[in-house]
Amino acid sequence: MSDAATTHQATQRLQGKHALVTGGGSGIGAAIALALVEQGARVTVLGRRMEPLQSLVAQHPETLQAVCADVSDAAQVEAAVRDAQVRFGPIHILVNNAGQAASAPFLKTDASLLHQMLDVNLHGTWNCTQAVLPQMLQAGWGRIVNVASTAGITGYAYVAAYCAAKHAVVGLTRSLALEVAKKGVTVNAVCPGYTETEILRESIANVVAKTGRSEAEARAEFAKGNPQGRIVQPAEVADTVRWLCGESASSITGQAIAVCGGEVMH
Ligand code: NAP
Repeated sequence: MSDAATTHQATQRLQGKHALVTGGGSGIGAAIALALVEQGARVTVLGRRMEPLQSLVAQHPETLQAVCADVSDAAQVEAAVRDAQVRFGPIHILVNNAGQAASAPFLKTDASLLHQMLDVNLHGTWNCTQAVLPQMLQAGWGRIVNVASTAGITGYAYVAAYCAAKHAVVGLTRSLALEVAKKGVTVNAVCPGYTETEILRESIANVVAKTGRSEAEARAEFAKGNPQGRIVQPAEVADTVRWLCGESASSITGQAIAVCGGEVMH
């Protein structure tokens, strides 16, 4: 086989597959969507705002499409999953990436903040999985990748609600992985450390506002938690997801894979 043919084969490993990436319009989700398109998949990106989704779709209109839904609303998710299949067919890969991170001291975390964190991070993952899993079981093949966080594996001060929600996502991942282990479906979590996206920029702005530190000082503080002394890039998280979606990762299930320069080890 020629070098070109080998390269083509290596980059088209997900040809014929339809992936749904929630929160795919920005940050880590957009990087994941593009990585899966590169592997030959057709990808539906889902979010609440159409505009960022459409600007991503414009990069690859043949293989990307957008649907709007709030993942915390099961009825909206079901409708979006139905819409997604009209053009691209049954869904084989689900990346539950939509998420929000809010920080506050525990005693200032009221019930509404707790609910917000659980609604998007846990119930969102739950709703999308409930809507898509039956198709995977019917096909006898599927990949579910939940973008949790290092906050799903270890604790951090001032983010109790986010941490509780992401730990729950890891628990769901492990439990469901066992339930579907014999059905050709793998379920894993990818757990990034601080990653260069809007969520991190908001966290830095929050620290600046609350402590009076400069932006550079706040950024350095976030990088310091990573033993490599740097912020993770979205493409690094996306590459781990891409690998988990491929045939070669068939034996990897129920795992929480940290992408964080060694910040957590478990
Ligand atoms: P981001 O750029 O803010 O992306 C979050 C995405 O989720 C947005 O596209 C947003 O789009 C979507 N989203 C939020 N709430 C939603 C809802 N209720 N329904 C549907 N979509 C919703 O941040 P990111 O850093 O890439 O975050 C992606 C994931 O990585 C999250 O689960 C986050 O917890 C996790 N993570 C991030 C970091 C980090 O340091 N950046 C570290 C660890 C884990 P709309 O606003 O249009 O809905």
